[in-house]
Amino acid sequence: MYFLDEIERKRLVRDLLPLARKTGISEELRGWSWHEAPMKPYYEDEKIPMYLVCSRYCPSNRDVFLNKVEGVHPTINFKVSQGITLHETVSQLLTMFIEESLVNFEDWWEEKKGNINYSGKDEDGVEKLHRRAKRVWSHTLHNCNAQYSNACSKQPYACDRDVMSTSVPFLVEHKIDGSLLGLSGLLGIDCYDYLRSIVFDLKTISAFDDREKWHRLYPTGYALVLESVYEVPVEVGCIVWTSFKDDRLVVEKELFFINDDLRSWWLEERDKKLDIIAQKKDPGMPNECPEDCIYREECDR
Ligand code: SF4
Repeated sequence: MYFLDEIERKRLVRDLLPLARKTGISEELRGWSWHEAPMKPYYEDEKIPMYLVCSRYCPSNRDVFLNKVEGVHPTINFKVSQGITLHETVSQLLTMFIEESLVNFEDWWEEKKGNINYSGKDEDGVEKLHRRAKRVWSHTLHNCNAQYSNACSKQPYACDRDVMSTSVPFLVEHKIDGSLLGLSGLLGIDCYDYLRSIVFDLKTISAFDDREKWHRLYPTGYALVLESVYEVPVEVGCIVWTSFKDDRLVVEKELFFINDDLRSWWLEERDKKLDIIAQKKDPGMPNECPEDCIYREECDR
């Protein structure tokens, strides 16, 4: 999922990295400037999860109020459950591959399927998740094997650990503390390529139209957190879009420069949402709500 193909590598090297070097980033918009405005949160006692800062799914941000002020639990639907399942498929497979503790897919699924739970769960839905998770598993495994095997054949004197850490150079589900930026709990970054310094975020979508500009806020937020904790520049993000055409897996990547505009946008979202939590303000209903919003039951009452 997270390996770049030839075109993506060219774009990174010839387009994004020179752009990042030429344009630069304002010092106050670096994560390591967390101790002063605008990076420092205005409400220091309030904390918010990364997914609520970055999600623009609810047009009025009522989801933030419901979740953090009213303590409402969302109703998980098939779409959300599929996203969770495929995330776990990729992250657990990659972790096992890197740790050389790979198990058979069907054995892994036997344990996994017990945790699947969504509104209206039925056998067909679970079987669909099984087929899709299997596709994602074999696609990811195939790519890992190819990268590892190529690296092995080119580095006859390198030890296994060295080959693994340079051919599959990923921190997967990296746990990191986002509290310096007003975020709650330990965050899990889908993937961080530590050789190229790219933050990846995996998104499962139903159709091309489901891609949203605000999805870029997730890698942007994680880049800021990495900068705040490790004090190293992180300037490239990548969204990995996964979808299915019938049962065929389609993977597309969107690489981008995490510029000042994106950093400012992320801060604006964080501050606006922390304000809702601190002031316990119900922002009310928007004119239109997405059909499959996970808070629909609550808002329709
Ligand atoms: S149902 Fe509408 S108002 Fe309620 S959280 Fe969802 S999008 Fe927001």
